[in-house]
Amino acid sequence: MQVLAVTPEIFPLIKTGGLADVTGALPIALASHGVTTRTLVPGYPVVMAAFRKKKPVHHYDGLHGGKAAVHAAKVGELELFVLDAPHLFDRIGGPYGDAGGKDWPDNWRRFAALSQVGADIAAGVIAGYVPDLVHVHDWQAALTLAYMRYGKAVGVPSAITVHNLAFQGQFSASIFPELSLPPQAMALDGVEYYGGVGYLKAGLQSAWAITTVSPTYAQEIRTPQFGMGLDGLINSRAADLHGIVNGIDVDIWDPATDPHLVSPYSRTALKAREANKQAVEQRFDLKRDNGPIVCVISRLTWQKGMDVLASVVDEIVATGARLAVLGSGDSGLEGTLLAAAARHRGRIGVVIGYDEALSHTMQGGCDAIVIPSRFEPCGLTQLYGLRYGCVPLVARTGGLADTIIDANEAAVAAGVATGLLFAPESGAALLQAVRRTVELHSDRTIWGSIQKQGMKADVSWHRSAAKYADLYKSLAARKAA
Ligand code: ADP
Repeated sequence: MQVLAVTPEIFPLIKTGGLADVTGALPIALASHGVTTRTLVPGYPVVMAAFRKKKPVHHYDGLHGGKAAVHAAKVGELELFVLDAPHLFDRIGGPYGDAGGKDWPDNWRRFAALSQVGADIAAGVIAGYVPDLVHVHDWQAALTLAYMRYGKAVGVPSAITVHNLAFQGQFSASIFPELSLPPQAMALDGVEYYGGVGYLKAGLQSAWAITTVSPTYAQEIRTPQFGMGLDGLINSRAADLHGIVNGIDVDIWDPATDPHLVSPYSRTALKAREANKQAVEQRFDLKRDNGPIVCVISRLTWQKGMDVLASVVDEIVATGARLAVLGSGDSGLEGTLLAAAARHRGRIGVVIGYDEALSHTMQGGCDAIVIPSRFEPCGLTQLYGLRYGCVPLVARTGGLADTIIDANEAAVAAGVATGLLFAPESGAALLQAVRRTVELHSDRTIWGSIQKQGMKADVSWHRSAAKYADLYKSLAARKAA
């Protein structure tokens, strides 16, 4: 089966969050299920630099205001189509905004262009390539399905994965005439959304199947609290909605071979972890003691509950835990956390920035990772935590609730606990969970058993890839029927 994936990010080339990890790992995991994936990605500078042999397989004389070409490329095990459109993607900064974090004003145009090209490929413009199914990711690729449905590739099965419903790609109605969609597309069952144009909304409306990245989040987004205005539409499509938990790349994330660890280790040789803890202490200027180091590796945002964490940092330190924070985002939160580190030298260390290598070091050396998200579609850092024996301490929401077994008395006695869950989303509940962490950590036998149980959990793509493959096959069968 040939699947065309369309995405704005793919690991290892371009990543701002979990979406990239998924689009980078899923094609490789699907290969053993008889699915060949080719992925269309924007030709950002880092993507263009990643492949030498430029082999254009399609040209555009004019694509949204400039010349463009599609290149076929292979990067590692990933088969790519790269949209080389310098007027849209050859810019210094991030994939969605300038170096200062300000969104590019023409994002609507950049991702309409990506989507238009996705639909063209679905329709067969590249000689010798006709996908059986198109799978798009998030709002940036969602319009692909509208272009397909309104003429370019009617009848080709499709799926959209929502990695985070909070990002919807909503724009003014004034852009509609420039999208080259037929007038009837500007309708309630098309791209129209509250008087404007909604990219994600259009994708949800047009997809044959909608998936999101955990069963609990799939249920949550059907409610007004989590639906972000789209719960009505999602409910109307409930029969086509699936929740499939993300896996992680267990080769890249393997504590036994991870080059970012000073001391590799495994479930049966956890003592070797100690040297990594010392490396974390050095990096974050933390004073040695016997208590746990709790870490944060996250975007510093309201969604991630970082304001809740910030509101109780003094109390967290008072429990005996130390805190190591790696993250960037909201400048107010960055400042608050840096101030907390200055107040508690030796007990709180904060690194502002994005550092893939350091994130590995922390998972391999810290005792626990705290994830106090208000909502969390899947979450990956708790899965890395499980794999590395960095015990997840998480809010009971979305994929966090689906992947962690709380260390309550019964679960500890039965030896099945893998982490700590807390609710509601409040400083008091978070603090209580940190207190439980400190207490559990003080009993080496219990703590070791929680670590080992987490390290045993299957967090690979194995089962989830099978679920995607089954979904693809059922959609293909629906077409044939
Ligand atoms: P989201 O996609 O909502 O940001 P996820 O938990 O699904 O959250 O994925 C976040 C990914 O980004 C993980 O791979 C995590 O390790 C990584 N990450 C987040 N912040 C940082 C950071 N400051 N430095 C390095 N990696 C980070």
